[in-house]
Amino acid sequence: MRLQMNDVAESKLRLLKAAPYEIAGRGTFNGKIHAFRDAEKTFCGQTVEFCPGKVFSGTAQDVTCRICTRSMASQERYDEQREEWKQRAAQDEQRRELEHQRWWDVYSRTSNRRNGKRNAPLC
Ligand SMILES: [Zn+2]
Repeated sequence: MRLQMNDVAESKLRLLKAAPYEIAGRGTFNGKIHAFRDAEKTFCGQTVEFCPGKVFSGTAQDVTCRICTRSMASQERYDEQREEWKQRAAQDEQRRELEHQRWWDVYSRTSNRRNGKRNAPLC
């Protein structure tokens, strides 16, 4: 068995190699390799039922269907974007908490002074 180091880093996908097709007068063409988005449909919306072929496991690099490739890339971008939004929301939350903490510190110091507790440390 040949070791494929590159495949170790790549996550495995379920792929569909469409059966070769023939165009009259132009010869036989290899079917495109599609990637499954879920149990039934590929990223370009094919199903094994309508696009018969061989289901096998491979990586994104094996995919030759341009629609699948593009669709996978935008899915990835979407995932990255969502991750970024999540991080940004967490940072905002942290900043708000910090600001509130700061405001509370100042508020409690000034109200202590107002209440005559002058020996409360100012910083
Ligand atoms: Zn496809």
